[in-house]
Amino acid sequence: MKNLVTFLSIVGVMPFYVSARTVNSPDGKLVVSTDVDGAGRPIYSVIYDGKTMLEKSPLGFKSNLGDFSSGMSLRDKHSRDTVNREITQDRIKKSRFRYNANRLTENYVTHDGKKMAIEWSVSDNDIAFRYIVPKQGDTASMVISEELTGFHFPAKTTAFVTPQSDAMIGWKRTKPSYEENYIVDAPVSTRSQYGHGFTFPALFRIGDDGWALVSETGVDGRFCGSRLSDNENGEYTVAYPMPEENNGNGNASPAIALPGKTPWRTITVGAGLAPIVETVVPWAVVEPRYETESPARPGRGTWSWLLWQDGSINFNDQKKFIDLAEAMGYENVLIDNWWDRNIGRDGIKKLADYAKSKGVNLIIWYSSSGYWNDITQSPTNLMDRPVERKKEFKWLKGLGISKVKVDFFGGDKQETMRLYEDILSDAADYGIDVIFHGCTLPRGWERLYPNYVGSEAVLASENLVFSQDFCDAAPFNATLHPFIRNTVGCMEYGGTVLNKRLNRGNDGGNYRRTGDAFELATAILFQNPVQNFALAPNNLTDAPADAIEFMKKVPTTWDDVRFIDGYPGRYAVIARRHGDSWYVAGVNAGKEPLKLKLDLSSIIDKNDVMTLYADKEGCQLKSETLKIKKADAVPVTILPAGGFVLVKD
Ligand code: CA
Repeated sequence: MKNLVTFLSIVGVMPFYVSARTVNSPDGKLVVSTDVDGAGRPIYSVIYDGKTMLEKSPLGFKSNLGDFSSGMSLRDKHSRDTVNREITQDRIKKSRFRYNANRLTENYVTHDGKKMAIEWSVSDNDIAFRYIVPKQGDTASMVISEELTGFHFPAKTTAFVTPQSDAMIGWKRTKPSYEENYIVDAPVSTRSQYGHGFTFPALFRIGDDGWALVSETGVDGRFCGSRLSDNENGEYTVAYPMPEENNGNGNASPAIALPGKTPWRTITVGAGLAPIVETVVPWAVVEPRYETESPARPGRGTWSWLLWQDGSINFNDQKKFIDLAEAMGYENVLIDNWWDRNIGRDGIKKLADYAKSKGVNLIIWYSSSGYWNDITQSPTNLMDRPVERKKEFKWLKGLGISKVKVDFFGGDKQETMRLYEDILSDAADYGIDVIFHGCTLPRGWERLYPNYVGSEAVLASENLVFSQDFCDAAPFNATLHPFIRNTVGCMEYGGTVLNKRLNRGNDGGNYRRTGDAFELATAILFQNPVQNFALAPNNLTDAPADAIEFMKKVPTTWDDVRFIDGYPGRYAVIARRHGDSWYVAGVNAGKEPLKLKLDLSSIIDKNDVMTLYADKEGCQLKSETLKIKKADAVPVTILPAGGFVLVKD
């Protein structure tokens, strides 16, 4: 049959019906099959190393131009090519990588002659695909009302996912902001907490057959952010924002100009977790949106608000944190909300000058609002429109300030994605780098935007002060992020607390449950090009001297990453390389000490000397020198809520 179809297609007798096609990864292990079913629905399935990762799953969308999800025919006309690219990229987990992929573009036609294509780009462990829609006659724009792209996992699959929140709830009605708890190893039929499904990235374990991570990339001001629906009949579907997001302002349905493309949907698969921790697909398939004259300036910083809260946003306390930054050799000090009221613009100028004299830069906080929440934390209403925004950036540039942090965004609608892009683009014109807080997941943004340096989009360290439960759950959460949230984009967590207590005096408030080495390990496990650590001036004298020395040297930019060991929710061990130095970091969320023999043979040799920072029962953290006997079996013990870092310089 297949030969006949091919023959007839070649001679042009059967233009519409063709049999299924496949596209394989360069190593041949990953196989995507595409087809249309009996109802003319485009479908696909995924096999990795002979094992089914995704069963037949739907493709397509519905739009104001018609239904591109059923009654479709797969045309014989298709194209294949290969991509072999060497990519250099700062601010992510690897500084240089190869992207080798086989591409297939399939063409479909609706029953009434409208055209659509699906482009597949398949590398050894990553699938990226998107819809391409040509101009249809004179029609040059389209609103997509619903995307049917689905992910039908085998029944044995379990999910490691975090729900999408209701819109317009929480602090000053600022949700959703990707700050929800995870469920782990849950059956795929598990309903989400709010009934709106789950946010990207979503991790799945297909029994003993492997792992899959589902996400998206290349979402900029020209589309909305998406998520996964709740699982219906075994299937998750791509879902668009809720109409209530952004206080109801802006369309929940994305609109594109034709010819046009949707963002890439991505699926990363492997037998183990290494391809997921090490994936670069979010950056491999997208291109920079613009260039800047001043490249982004990654670095470390201090952040008074984390432990000292609003009361610290005053001239004298900020001087203390500038002094702390200088003592640590850090590049930045983050000045949080209310600075306009409690420090004033003249005060900020004086602080900027003072900081400059210490070799330190200021990061200045703004609310994104806006007409989409109830935030009164000021300054407000300066980042949502270009007139005010550019005036502000001009003022900052005049003071020599190179970074802003913009907070409290309104959700995932196209209108809000446009605001992120507008802020970044305007900031770039003034040589200013941008961190987002109270925000959506970045989707390839380190590559799209050269002055983008971080996003929160996680239940972050700010919650330690607010909630003892969050302090208690810190070890559990730390074993999730290296395998889920942080795999597809940078994560501004504000970690490494060396206070024992979560208050200004280190003598009251919530209790930190984790060991000091655990806290050092999170500085490696959690990746963000700008790290604003939760250190306080008292830590210079009351924290272990070796911990402070470690924090003085810790990098925030990385050249390479390796999954070493772990299981989300239980423990995590990963290695990162900065220049010639390898940092191996691990944490344990279990109730018992964890004895591991780490295979580090891909990064060190026998007789190498490493420095070990580890939590030990009843004694203060002290580094020790370790001579490696067997590189493929390096023994470490991780205490409950403890951690370690091994450094090879
Ligand atoms: Ca937050």
